[in-house]
Amino acid sequence: VEKFRVSVVGSGNWGSVAAKLVASNTIGHPFFHDEVRMWVFEEVLPCGEKLSDAINRTNENVKYLNGVKLGKNVVADPDLENAVREANMLVFVTPHQFMKGICKRLGGKIRSDAEGISLIKGMEVKKEGPCMISKLITDMLGINCCVLMGANIANEIAFEKFSEATIGYKHSKEVAQRWAKLFSQSYFLISAVQDIEGVELCGTLKNVVAIAAGLVDGLDMGNNTKAAIMRIGLREMRALSKRLFSSVKDSTFFESCGVADVITTCLGGRNRRVAEAFARTGGKKSFNELEAELLQGQKLQGVSTAKEVYDVLSHRGWQGLFPLLTTVHKICIGLLPPSAIVEYSEHAPNCS
Ligand code: NAD
Ligand code: 13P
Repeated sequence: VEKFRVSVVGSGNWGSVAAKLVASNTIGHPFFHDEVRMWVFEEVLPCGEKLSDAINRTNENVKYLNGVKLGKNVVADPDLENAVREANMLVFVTPHQFMKGICKRLGGKIRSDAEGISLIKGMEVKKEGPCMISKLITDMLGINCCVLMGANIANEIAFEKFSEATIGYKHSKEVAQRWAKLFSQSYFLISAVQDIEGVELCGTLKNVVAIAAGLVDGLDMGNNTKAAIMRIGLREMRALSKRLFSSVKDSTFFESCGVADVITTCLGGRNRRVAEAFARTGGKKSFNELEAELLQGQKLQGVSTAKEVYDVLSHRGWQGLFPLLTTVHKICIGLLPPSAIVEYSEHAPNCS
């Protein structure tokens, strides 16, 4: 029987950790081919070396995950088509804004029997409404695509500190279990739920809530205010998810992808960190400037997701029902001051 062959599309902070996780399971496994190809969006390092060459020479992603060995069976490949050609298990993990372009390049270039999984937290907004990234992949590449989301700050998992994750699937529990086998570790515990939209919306919307939490930190409002913002945010996440997809289950919000991811991202994530800096500068520096200054090439998802969510809400006339999600966008674009996050969200109606 042919072994499953895995490629990872993406090699940022989480992409590199995902490759490490997967590679530690494929090696010597009876069902999986040892080698894991990892597509690298090529760049030249300040020393003049190409990033993909540096990864293959040192077995570390020196730019996005410095100091962590990926595993000898991880091969960095800057050629997208070549990286996916032979794979029948495709792991997608890039910042969400690049996925449409990547799918365009991959059309007709992947195996017809491939299965996908998206670790990407974000959405596209089309004329018809929101399109989750797993759906974009399914529509553009013609393959089934699960999602894996959860309270998963990459730098912590890189050092094998215990965490949990949630796989969301649509039809096949068997395929979800195969993905769980590929990612599971004693320090990375996975549960699978049949609610792909709920899981993916949790991962996506919590980035907007994390911006709100970061603003509260930058305003020195304290823990009670932050907890209130997290609670209101979680309630808006659930209400919006259920309005967009009636199949979304309440129980999903108690999985790792729900409440746990809200907590960890609001405590220790990049969206939180940059939003705190934004509030401290009184909005004088833009999110783009601060992202470039603080994150060394890593990308925020919350600011663009806030805009995407705002487009969906305004198109449907739902802004009044989701004051926190709406206010985050208005603060990000400078229409409201950072302090509005508390003034507006505390008067939230019961949207659920
Ligand atoms: P990252 O933030 O480290 O992003 C940088 C990556 O984007 C680099 O690999 C860079 O080469 C690439 N890139 C830059 N310009 C590009 C372009 N034009 N086209 C294609 N790629 C380009 O990436 P990440 O942390 O791996 O995040 C990927 C996804 O995983 C996001 O949706 C994020 O929300 C999610 N996620 C991240 C974490 C985390 O802790 N980092 C945890 C869970 C989920
Ligand atoms: P940030 O992108 O805000 O760091 O969040 C990472 C994450 O998704 C943790 O689960």
